[in-house]
Amino acid sequence: MKPLLHRTKIVATIGPASDSPEMMRKLLLAGMNVARLNFSHGNYADHASRIQRLRAAADELDLPLMLLQDLQGPKIRVGDLPAAGMMLNTGDRLTLVPIADYTEQPHTVGIDYPYVAEEAEPGTQVLLDDGLLELRVEKIDGNAVHCTVVEGGVLRSHKGVNFPTLNLRLPSMTEKDRRDLDFGIEQGVDIISLSFVRKPEDVQTLKALIQEKGVEIPVLAKLEKPQAIANLEAIVDECDAIMVARGDLGVEMRPESVPLIQKRIIQLCNQKGIPVITATQMLDSMIHNPRPTRAEASDVANAIMDGTDAVMLSGESAVGDYPVEAVTMLARIATEVEPAIQFVNYPPNRTDDADAISEALHAIDDTLELQCIVAFTETGYTAQLASEERPRTPIVAYTPDVKIYRRLSLNWGIRPVLLPHFEGETVETVMQRVETDLVQRQFAAPGDKVLVMGGMPFGTAGATNFLKIHTIAP
Ligand code: PGA
Ligand code: MN
Repeated sequence: MKPLLHRTKIVATIGPASDSPEMMRKLLLAGMNVARLNFSHGNYADHASRIQRLRAAADELDLPLMLLQDLQGPKIRVGDLPAAGMMLNTGDRLTLVPIADYTEQPHTVGIDYPYVAEEAEPGTQVLLDDGLLELRVEKIDGNAVHCTVVEGGVLRSHKGVNFPTLNLRLPSMTEKDRRDLDFGIEQGVDIISLSFVRKPEDVQTLKALIQEKGVEIPVLAKLEKPQAIANLEAIVDECDAIMVARGDLGVEMRPESVPLIQKRIIQLCNQKGIPVITATQMLDSMIHNPRPTRAEASDVANAIMDGTDAVMLSGESAVGDYPVEAVTMLARIATEVEPAIQFVNYPPNRTDDADAISEALHAIDDTLELQCIVAFTETGYTAQLASEERPRTPIVAYTPDVKIYRRLSLNWGIRPVLLPHFEGETVETVMQRVETDLVQRQFAAPGDKVLVMGGMPFGTAGATNFLKIHTIAP
């Protein structure tokens, strides 16, 4: 029997190291469920051909794959610097000026934030390149912000700039984000994430822009700003999914604050049934090494134990030397730890038929040795309901809708399968087709017990209202 392996989903960022059709096929076979397209880099022609290759690879292998378009959001960056970068030694002076006023001169860099001199004051902390370099503001002089280097290093072009203590006057989406969004919608991406979300209105802006285009695409907020943590619940309530974006979060809010914030976000998302991705540096050393550090293996395992729906690779799969090994390692860690986890069973949010079904699902899953849970799902709702329960049995979600098929790739424990037009059919006829499919895919064998759930009659988009314990015809 082909086991339905890791239940935790794997998001892999696609980049130069994972761009070829062979690589994409290998990543899918290794367990990639979501491909992240990072719109901080690349041009449209490259993104378009990448999308086309990813779709082709997934179709060829008959595997579900969600395409995540990650919008850069209002990130501040330094301007152009010499190719070798600029060496900053601790104690050096460095002046920051708005890019528009920048002229090449020693000890000066341009940054793409016009209000820096208005908002910074002596003592303001400035972090560069994901917090690797640190400056302290000494003095403001017109539009020039004079700083001292606190933590030195080499600064290169276009590296990120963070001002953890400033309330930046930046729009939630830049002009570039809007153009990128139009492009993503045209390309039919499956979910759109926004970086540096600060408040629920930021997500509403994105949703309104999507709606204006007459399409319906889920949205994901990347939580990486202190303001987002302050507005956590209101932001989660606006979103279809969440990312714990630990890279910038650890810069904006101190590394030592990340573990507890991660747990808080995951717990809240689990309670509300919102899929959550834990991201950044999960297997960072695998950018250059074929094996992770023990600390990294533990970090991945702990995020899974926290209840994350998905774990994410960034540089590891985009520019690293071992993208396939990194995906394989995530899958192996997940497969190892998942059976040992006692997930918290949160009390139901509502008291309706679907809730009663969820409770019953739990009881049946605990009592019987099931081969899989078969969820018939036209909107994805029934399958998500099962996923939220974190059953020990794998969930196979049959859907007639290719969009739902791709979207369910993100939800914990769900293996989506496309089943053309079962609307209007009876449970008996659909079950016959499903039995054949389950056996063909080796998800179950004749004589196995499965739990079937869905909403009847099919095609009415009704709520989940039936559960059936079913034995596959011997
Ligand atoms: P990024 O987001 O990789 O786009 O910066 C993730 C993070 O900050 O952790
Ligand atoms: Mn980030």
